[in-house]
Formats: sequence, structure tokens, C-alpha cells
Amino acid sequence: MPVSRTLSIIKPDATRRNLTGAINAAIEEAGLRIVGQKRIRLTRAQAEAFYAVHKERPFFADLVAFMSSGPVVVQVLEGEDAVARNRTVMGATDPAKAAPGTIRARFGESIEANSVHGSDSPENAAGEISFFFSSDEITG
Ligand code: GDP
Repeated sequence: MPVSRTLSIIKPDATRRNLTGAINAAIEEAGLRIVGQKRIRLTRAQAEAFYAVHKERPFFADLVAFMSSGPVVVQVLEGEDAVARNRTVMGATDPAKAAPGTIRARFGESIEANSVHGSDSPENAAGEISFFFSSDEITG
């Protein structure tokens, strides 16, 4: 399996509770390398653009408000089958349904405040990485 990349976001519920290090440890223990990382505060417009695919969903306005409510840590993760590997360590969207030991099961507060985002396909990963990072901000 070739090395590939995915985008991860540590969401505002997790940065507020000082969980960046714990989440990074879980990511690294899953065999992924953090090859790009920055802590930023999303504007509403950035959050709307990032989640544009969800704009017809009933929770869109809440999601945009939540994602721009505090700092996030955006990350590029690298490893074998990075998208699927990260989705496995993240766990299901709803923390109550996430497998034991996953990041969302351990740290998620609700289906919305579920601590982490991860790209859901290699195609989306490429677009999401370039949404936040220039190539000189990523180094393996
Ligand atoms: P993901 O790929 O597991 O993050 O899930 P989705 O792409 O379906 O949803 C994107 C994000 O929207 C999730 O991570 C949650 O933060 C939020 N979300 C998903 N479903 C719901 C919901 O039913 N209600 C609310 N308030 N937020 C949701």
C-alpha cells in the first residue's frame, strides 16, 4: 500500500479542553505522521466554504457556527492508506456509536462536537489539504 495523505482537523470542542496532544498521540500511535500542522481560527466564511458539501443539511448553520467558535488545529497526515487509517482511529461520526478506544469515543461530546474531522476519500483529501496548506507548509 503506497504512502498517501489526508486532512485532519482537531475541532473547537477538543482545543477548548486542551486535547491537542492526546489526539496527536492517538494519531501517531495509529501509524500516521503529522507532516503539516497549524492552529487557526476559522472565519464563518471559511467554515461555510469548507463544509459547502453539507449546505443543504439541516445542521449546516450549527456546524458552521461551531467550527468557527474557537481555535482548530488543521493537519496533514501521511501514512499507508492514510484516509482509511485516519477514519478508523477517528471512529464513527456519533461518539455514542464510535468503537471503543477511537478518538471520538474517547473525547467526542456530541454528534456535532465530535473532536475531529478527517477526509472521507483520497479525492476529497487532496482538495481539503490544498484548502488549508501550501506545499511549502508540508514536509515529510
Ligand atoms: P464525518 O465525515 O464523520 O465528520 O461526518 P459527516 O461528513 O456526515 O458530517 C460532517 C460533520 O457534521 C460531523 O463531523 C459533525 O461535526 C457534523 N454533523 C454530522 N451529523 C450531524 C447531525 O446530525 N447534527 C449536527 N448538529 N451535526 C452533525
